[in-house]
Amino acid sequence: MSNAKSIHSAADGSIDQGQFLAVLPREEAIARFEAALFPRIVQGERRKLAQALGCSLAEDVTAPIDVPPFDRSNVDGFAVRSADLAAAGEATPVRLILNDEVIACGTAPMRPVLSGTATPIATGGPVPRGADAIVMVEHTQPSGNRAIEVRRAVSPGQFVSYAGSDIARGEALLRAGTMIGSREIGMLAACGIAEVVVARRPRVAILSTGDELVQPGMPLRPAAIYDTNGAVVTAAIAENGGETSFLGAVPDDEQALESAMRSALAGSDMLVLSGGTSKGAGDISHRIIGRLGKPGIVAHGVALKPGKPLCLAVCDSKPVVILPGFPTSAMFTFHDIIVPVLRRMAGLPPRNDAKVSARVPVRITSELGRTEFVMVSLVEGNDGLIAYPTGKGSGAITSFAQADGFLRIDALAEQLPANAETEITLFTPHVRVPDLVIIGSHCIGLDLVTAPMAHAGLTVRSIAVGSLGGLAAARRGECDLAPIHLFDEKSESYNTPFLTEGLELVPGWRRMQGIVFRKGDPRFEGFGPEEAVRAALADTACIMVNRNQGAGTRILIDRLLEGARPEGYWNQPRSHNAVAAAVAQHRADWGMTIAPVAHATGLGFIPYAEEHYDFALVKARKQRPVVQAFLDALASESGRNVLEQAGFRPA
Ligand code: AMP
Ligand code: MG
Repeated sequence: MSNAKSIHSAADGSIDQGQFLAVLPREEAIARFEAALFPRIVQGERRKLAQALGCSLAEDVTAPIDVPPFDRSNVDGFAVRSADLAAAGEATPVRLILNDEVIACGTAPMRPVLSGTATPIATGGPVPRGADAIVMVEHTQPSGNRAIEVRRAVSPGQFVSYAGSDIARGEALLRAGTMIGSREIGMLAACGIAEVVVARRPRVAILSTGDELVQPGMPLRPAAIYDTNGAVVTAAIAENGGETSFLGAVPDDEQALESAMRSALAGSDMLVLSGGTSKGAGDISHRIIGRLGKPGIVAHGVALKPGKPLCLAVCDSKPVVILPGFPTSAMFTFHDIIVPVLRRMAGLPPRNDAKVSARVPVRITSELGRTEFVMVSLVEGNDGLIAYPTGKGSGAITSFAQADGFLRIDALAEQLPANAETEITLFTPHVRVPDLVIIGSHCIGLDLVTAPMAHAGLTVRSIAVGSLGGLAAARRGECDLAPIHLFDEKSESYNTPFLTEGLELVPGWRRMQGIVFRKGDPRFEGFGPEEAVRAALADTACIMVNRNQGAGTRILIDRLLEGARPEGYWNQPRSHNAVAAAVAQHRADWGMTIAPVAHATGLGFIPYAEEHYDFALVKARKQRPVVQAFLDALASESGRNVLEQAGFRPA
């Protein structure tokens, strides 16, 4: 295990956390956690049938009665003695006298069936004494008022279900560990069982930690964020057999946290926290765990990506888990490491996630020594599924919604090469390949144009990989359209020079780029772009926000700056929205973004240059009805109207 050793020695850890020096390989962390928890006795609890759905049976159930409880007729007809009809045939009908009773469902027979007689009986009726078979009503004819004629023989036992033939009294009906679904509920009900002993759902308390957390529904104060983990972890626990109790967010205060953790643990079988596990200041929850019970922390730091700061502990045989703070990291570690333990505690079988095979279109690099999870969007390629990585770093929660599943890169692999065939674990039981696939540069205008398609039941997937990435995907035939906004310096024109064989240009819309500033700022208000930048450069207290290299917007900024590098130049966010947020929040005084974003953020705007946002259409896919639907939506009166209202100029 030289590899595991090198992982150990590469791990960091501060002095006062001596016992957590090692970042453990995933498998070892799981092994230690499970060794501290299992075997354990599954606690049972009595539940009414309706409340037992989805639970796991804690004890064997033995049938207390026979089902059916009596010999029962399977058809509407007449209870007879088969020997009476031995000679019956087409030419030799047998006449039977009807007894003076009708056995309906729920009616106990009073009279025996003697030789030469028959008793009318309904489906489900108890077979009377003396009778040994049933003749279907269709196979008889009335003969006078109180008799029938039968023209065929019957074998003994015909159309009779004998007592206990379905379920015999004393038979093992269901075994402990069986998941109770509707079929099991049916069997139990048939035996008259109203309650069963099921594995008690583990009571799981959930706490979020962090001074910055605000619960959804409350207003967001400056520098605060909404508590995502509380909601998502609570839901995931309920999905996997836990009885949840979400206790809110606790500030990063050792005393407050300790008392919250103690009371949470006292009333539950398991405690799941999130945040506060990175080994920095304010990192207190793991210190508290040391005081909560034995053996305490079994792993702090697991070689997972995302999810390295995961902390696993067992306090007096109750699992205590601290998930990483970043929601995506929290979710991956929860599903990978906590769900199996939770399900085992709940008596549920391991999850059986659906998996598919897909090819990755690009090389995905991976950190050596960490098991890496990469979320992917699936699209249909020319020969099978293609898995596009959608992760945006461990802080992104939206990548969860856009992804169909994830792939896993082994701890010992440094990369997954382009075109590698790999296994995708799906988030839902079925692959949902989208109807229309758009890969390239993202623009909110795109959402506006495709919204009616989505309402009409078509699934549209847009994957943001930038203009150049989109063109490459279009050339490989992995998408229908690639939105691009690429300026060619030589021809001084947009987009067309970048098209290659098999692609054609569909004009999209123009986006006005311009300078954003806070309304009323005298350095900008009322000026043109060149004057405004001159005023900004003249004021040393004025800070700008730039854009990343390669962005179309960046080219425009550099052109306006004419080589100047004012303060803020190195702040280079990757989106139009980030520029607007920086200015709105006073971290910068000006920057360049598109008009719709400036207006949506309530900022002042000085128009500078129009950018062409068009689509490279894969010609081979042009005739697909869904592509036509997109082109129609783009050209439609209503499509153009919504674009204009949002501040775009349709081409
Ligand atoms: P921490 O481990 O507490 O340092 O948190 C790491 C990151 O995750 C920080 O950016 C936190 O703001 C964020 N974070 C922690 N807890 C939550 C939560 N419950 N919901 C959303 N983000 C969180
Ligand atoms: Mg925190």
